[in-house]
Amino acid sequence: MKTLNILTLFPDFFRSPFETGLLSKFLQRGDLLLNLVDIREFSDDSFKRCDDYPYGGGSGMVLKPEPLFKALDSLDNRGTVILTSPSGEPLNQEKVKGFAGLEDITIICGHYEGVDQRVVDEYVDFEISVGDYVLSGGEFAALIITDAVVRYLPGFMSNPGSLVEESFEGSLLEYPHYTRPENFREHQVPPVLLSGNHAEIAKWRLNKRVEKTRRVRPDLYKQYEIIKEKQR
Ligand code: SAH
Repeated sequence: MKTLNILTLFPDFFRSPFETGLLSKFLQRGDLLLNLVDIREFSDDSFKRCDDYPYGGGSGMVLKPEPLFKALDSLDNRGTVILTSPSGEPLNQEKVKGFAGLEDITIICGHYEGVDQRVVDEYVDFEISVGDYVLSGGEFAALIITDAVVRYLPGFMSNPGSLVEESFEGSLLEYPHYTRPENFREHQVPPVLLSGNHAEIAKWRLNKRVEKTRRVRPDLYKQYEIIKEKQR
Protein backbone atom coordinates (compact mmCIF):
# COMPACT_ATOMS: atom_id res chain seq x y z
CA MET A 1 0.00 0.00 0.00
CA LYS A 2 1.31 3.46 -0.96
CA THR A 3 -1.55 5.83 -0.17
CA LEU A 4 -4.12 5.57 2.57
CA ASN A 5 -6.97 8.07 2.44
CA ILE A 6 -9.30 8.18 5.43
CA LEU A 7 -12.58 10.06 5.01
CA THR A 8 -13.92 11.17 8.36
CA LEU A 9 -16.00 13.81 10.12
CA PHE A 10 -13.41 13.76 12.91
CA PRO A 11 -9.84 13.96 11.55
CA ASP A 12 -8.57 14.92 15.03
CA PHE A 13 -9.60 11.50 16.27
CA PHE A 14 -6.56 10.03 14.52
CA ARG A 15 -3.99 12.41 15.98
CA SER A 16 -2.73 10.38 18.92
CA PRO A 17 -2.70 6.94 17.24
CA PHE A 18 -0.85 8.24 14.19
CA GLU A 19 1.55 10.35 16.23
CA THR A 20 2.71 7.63 18.62
CA GLY A 21 4.61 4.37 18.46
CA LEU A 22 5.51 2.29 15.45
CA LEU A 23 2.82 3.79 13.24
CA SER A 24 4.18 7.32 13.61
CA LYS A 25 7.76 6.18 12.94
CA PHE A 26 6.64 4.35 9.84
CA LEU A 27 4.70 7.36 8.55
CA GLN A 28 7.65 9.66 9.20
CA ARG A 29 9.82 7.48 6.99
CA GLY A 30 7.42 8.31 4.16
CA ASP A 31 6.82 4.77 2.89
CA LEU A 32 3.09 5.31 3.27
CA LEU A 33 1.26 8.54 2.49
CA LEU A 34 -1.55 9.06 4.98
CA ASN A 35 -4.22 11.50 3.85
CA LEU A 36 -6.89 12.44 6.38
CA VAL A 37 -9.84 13.97 4.55
CA ASP A 38 -12.39 16.03 6.46
CA ILE A 39 -15.76 15.18 4.89
CA ARG A 40 -17.23 18.41 6.27
CA GLU A 41 -15.02 20.47 3.94
CA PHE A 42 -17.00 19.07 1.03
CA SER A 43 -20.40 20.09 2.36
CA ASP A 44 -22.29 22.78 0.42
CA ASP A 45 -24.41 23.54 3.45
CA SER A 46 -23.59 26.90 5.06
CA PHE A 47 -23.48 25.15 8.45
CA LYS A 48 -21.28 22.38 6.97
CA ARG A 49 -23.87 19.77 7.88
CA CYS A 50 -23.21 16.35 6.44
CA ASP A 51 -26.16 14.39 7.85
CA ASP A 52 -29.88 14.41 7.26
CA TYR A 53 -33.07 12.53 8.21
CA PRO A 54 -33.63 9.07 6.73
CA TYR A 55 -36.22 8.67 3.97
CA GLY A 56 -38.93 6.28 5.09
CA GLY A 57 -38.58 7.35 8.70
CA GLY A 58 -36.76 5.71 11.55
CA SER A 59 -34.42 6.99 14.19
CA GLY A 60 -31.02 8.57 13.73
CA MET A 61 -29.36 10.48 10.93
CA VAL A 62 -27.72 9.42 7.68
CA LEU A 63 -24.54 10.79 6.07
CA LYS A 64 -25.60 12.70 2.96
CA PRO A 65 -24.35 11.63 -0.45
CA GLU A 66 -23.05 15.00 -1.80
CA PRO A 67 -20.14 15.61 0.60
CA LEU A 68 -18.97 12.01 0.30
CA PHE A 69 -19.25 11.94 -3.52
CA LYS A 70 -17.28 15.18 -3.70
CA ALA A 71 -14.66 14.04 -1.21
CA LEU A 72 -14.18 10.77 -3.10
CA ASP A 73 -13.99 12.56 -6.46
CA SER A 74 -11.34 14.91 -5.09
CA LEU A 75 -8.85 12.11 -4.45
CA ASP A 76 -5.97 11.62 -6.88
CA ASN A 77 -5.18 8.12 -5.65
CA ARG A 78 -8.54 6.79 -4.53
CA GLY A 79 -7.70 3.16 -5.19
CA THR A 80 -9.81 0.53 -3.48
CA VAL A 81 -12.64 1.95 -1.39
CA ILE A 82 -13.53 0.35 1.93
CA LEU A 83 -16.60 1.35 3.90
CA THR A 84 -16.54 0.57 7.62
CA SER A 85 -19.87 -1.00 8.51
CA PRO A 86 -21.22 -3.49 11.05
CA SER A 87 -23.16 -5.08 8.20
CA GLY A 88 -20.02 -5.64 6.11
CA GLU A 89 -17.91 -8.77 5.60
CA PRO A 90 -15.94 -9.61 8.72
CA LEU A 91 -12.30 -8.52 8.69
CA ASN A 92 -9.80 -11.35 9.04
CA GLN A 93 -6.09 -11.90 8.56
CA GLU A 94 -6.53 -13.09 4.99
CA LYS A 95 -8.37 -9.90 4.00
CA VAL A 96 -5.77 -7.84 5.87
CA LYS A 97 -2.98 -9.37 3.79
CA GLY A 98 -4.96 -8.76 0.62
CA PHE A 99 -5.44 -5.09 1.49
CA ALA A 100 -1.73 -4.74 2.29
CA GLY A 101 -0.94 -5.80 -1.27
CA LEU A 102 -3.09 -3.06 -2.82
CA GLU A 103 -1.55 0.18 -4.10
CA ASP A 104 -3.99 2.80 -2.77
CA ILE A 105 -6.80 2.44 -0.26
CA THR A 106 -9.56 4.78 0.83
CA ILE A 107 -11.44 4.07 4.04
CA ILE A 108 -14.78 5.76 4.69
CA CYS A 109 -15.74 6.25 8.34
CA GLY A 110 -19.50 6.11 8.77
CA HIS A 111 -21.38 7.88 11.53
CA TYR A 112 -24.85 8.12 13.06
CA GLU A 113 -26.96 5.41 11.36
CA GLY A 114 -24.50 5.07 8.48
CA VAL A 115 -24.06 6.45 4.96
CA ASP A 116 -26.50 6.97 2.09
CA GLN A 117 -26.65 3.72 0.07
CA ARG A 118 -25.84 5.58 -3.17
CA VAL A 119 -22.30 6.14 -1.87
CA VAL A 120 -21.98 2.39 -1.47
CA ASP A 121 -23.44 1.68 -4.91
CA GLU A 122 -21.20 4.19 -6.68
CA TYR A 123 -17.82 3.86 -4.97
CA VAL A 124 -17.48 1.12 -2.39
CA ASP A 125 -15.48 -2.02 -3.23
CA PHE A 126 -15.61 -3.63 0.22
CA GLU A 127 -17.90 -3.14 3.19
CA ILE A 128 -15.88 -4.28 6.18
CA SER A 129 -16.96 -5.03 9.73
CA VAL A 130 -14.42 -5.35 12.52
CA GLY A 131 -16.68 -7.53 14.64
CA ASP A 132 -20.22 -8.43 15.60
CA TYR A 133 -20.89 -5.38 17.71
CA VAL A 134 -21.87 -1.81 16.93
CA LEU A 135 -19.40 1.06 17.35
CA SER A 136 -20.38 4.72 17.54
CA GLY A 137 -18.23 5.65 14.56
CA GLY A 138 -16.22 4.22 11.71
CA GLU A 139 -13.04 5.88 13.03
CA PHE A 140 -12.50 3.05 15.51
CA ALA A 141 -12.87 0.48 12.75
CA ALA A 142 -10.63 2.47 10.36
CA LEU A 143 -7.88 2.46 12.97
CA ILE A 144 -8.17 -1.27 13.43
CA ILE A 145 -8.04 -1.91 9.69
CA THR A 146 -5.09 0.47 9.27
CA ASP A 147 -3.06 -0.99 12.10
CA ALA A 148 -3.63 -4.57 10.97
CA VAL A 149 -2.75 -3.78 7.34
CA VAL A 150 0.28 -1.62 8.01
CA ARG A 151 1.96 -4.47 9.92
CA TYR A 152 2.23 -6.28 6.59
CA LEU A 153 3.92 -3.43 4.75
CA PRO A 154 7.63 -3.91 4.04
CA GLY A 155 9.74 -2.24 6.69
CA PHE A 156 7.03 -1.90 9.31
CA MET A 157 8.03 -4.82 11.49
CA SER A 158 11.65 -4.86 12.55
CA ASN A 159 11.36 -8.66 12.69
CA PRO A 160 9.11 -9.90 9.85
CA GLY A 161 9.47 -13.42 11.30
CA SER A 162 6.90 -12.46 13.93
CA LEU A 163 4.31 -12.26 11.16
CA VAL A 164 4.72 -15.93 10.33
CA GLU A 165 4.34 -17.38 13.80
CA GLU A 166 1.40 -15.46 15.13
CA SER A 167 -2.26 -16.08 15.75
CA PHE A 168 -4.39 -17.20 12.79
CA GLU A 169 -1.45 -18.45 10.73
CA GLY A 170 -2.49 -21.96 9.71
CA SER A 171 -5.87 -21.37 11.38
CA LEU A 172 -4.38 -21.69 14.86
CA LEU A 173 -4.05 -19.18 17.67
CA GLU A 174 -0.65 -18.43 19.11
CA TYR A 175 1.17 -20.35 21.84
CA PRO A 176 1.79 -18.79 25.29
CA HIS A 177 4.89 -16.65 25.85
CA TYR A 178 7.21 -16.44 28.84
CA THR A 179 10.14 -14.18 29.66
CA ARG A 180 12.43 -13.73 32.67
CA PRO A 181 12.35 -14.51 35.56
CA GLU A 182 12.13 -18.30 35.53
CA ASN A 183 10.13 -18.37 38.72
CA PHE A 184 7.77 -15.52 39.48
CA ARG A 185 5.62 -15.62 42.62
CA GLU A 186 5.63 -19.41 42.57
CA HIS A 187 4.69 -19.50 38.87
CA GLN A 188 7.30 -21.57 37.07
CA VAL A 189 8.16 -21.27 33.36
CA PRO A 190 7.36 -24.63 31.66
CA PRO A 191 10.64 -26.62 31.86
CA VAL A 192 10.58 -27.58 28.17
CA LEU A 193 11.19 -23.93 27.22
CA LEU A 194 14.42 -23.96 29.25
CA SER A 195 15.56 -27.30 27.83
CA GLY A 196 17.23 -25.94 24.70
CA ASN A 197 15.63 -28.83 22.75
CA HIS A 198 14.17 -27.02 19.76
CA ALA A 199 12.19 -29.97 18.42
CA GLU A 200 10.55 -30.49 21.82
CA ILE A 201 9.83 -26.78 22.13
CA ALA A 202 8.20 -26.70 18.70
CA LYS A 203 6.08 -29.72 19.60
CA TRP A 204 5.02 -28.17 22.91
CA ARG A 205 4.11 -24.89 21.20
CA LEU A 206 2.06 -26.60 18.51
CA ASN A 207 0.19 -28.60 21.16
CA LYS A 208 -0.58 -25.42 23.07
CA ARG A 209 -1.85 -23.74 19.89
CA VAL A 210 -4.11 -26.66 19.04
CA GLU A 211 -5.39 -26.95 22.61
CA LYS A 212 -6.25 -23.27 22.91
CA THR A 213 -7.81 -23.01 19.45
CA ARG A 214 -10.05 -26.01 20.16
CA ARG A 215 -11.11 -24.49 23.48
CA VAL A 216 -11.78 -20.85 22.54
CA ARG A 217 -12.33 -20.92 18.76
CA PRO A 218 -14.08 -24.11 17.63
CA ASP A 219 -14.76 -22.39 14.27
CA LEU A 220 -11.03 -21.93 13.59
CA TYR A 221 -10.25 -25.39 14.90
CA LYS A 222 -12.57 -26.88 12.26
CA GLN A 223 -10.58 -25.08 9.54
CA TYR A 224 -7.35 -26.37 11.04
CA GLU A 225 -8.66 -29.94 10.89
CA ILE A 226 -9.59 -29.47 7.24
CA ILE A 227 -6.10 -28.11 6.43
CA LYS A 228 -4.49 -31.03 8.25
CA GLU A 229 -6.72 -33.52 6.43
CA LYS A 230 -5.67 -32.03 3.07
CA GLN A 231 -2.00 -32.27 4.00
CA ARG A 232 -2.32 -36.01 4.68
N1 SAH B 1 -27.18 1.70 12.06
C1 SAH B 1 -26.02 0.93 11.84
C2 SAH B 1 -24.94 1.22 12.88
C3 SAH B 1 -24.27 2.53 12.67
S1 SAH B 1 -22.89 2.75 13.71
C4 SAH B 1 -26.38 -0.54 11.87
O1 SAH B 1 -27.25 -0.92 12.66
O2 SAH B 1 -25.80 -1.33 11.14
C5 SAH B 1 -22.10 4.13 12.98
C6 SAH B 1 -20.90 3.86 12.15
O3 SAH B 1 -19.91 3.19 12.90
C7 SAH B 1 -21.14 2.95 10.94
O4 SAH B 1 -21.59 3.68 9.84
C8 SAH B 1 -19.75 2.36 10.70
O5 SAH B 1 -18.96 3.22 9.92
C9 SAH B 1 -19.18 2.30 12.10
N2 SAH B 1 -19.26 0.95 12.70
C10 SAH B 1 -20.04 0.58 13.73
N3 SAH B 1 -19.85 -0.71 14.05
C11 SAH B 1 -18.92 -1.18 13.22
C12 SAH B 1 -18.29 -2.45 13.05
N4 SAH B 1 -18.59 -3.51 13.80
N5 SAH B 1 -17.36 -2.58 12.07
C13 SAH B 1 -17.04 -1.53 11.27
N6 SAH B 1 -17.61 -0.29 11.39
C14 SAH B 1 -18.53 -0.11 12.35
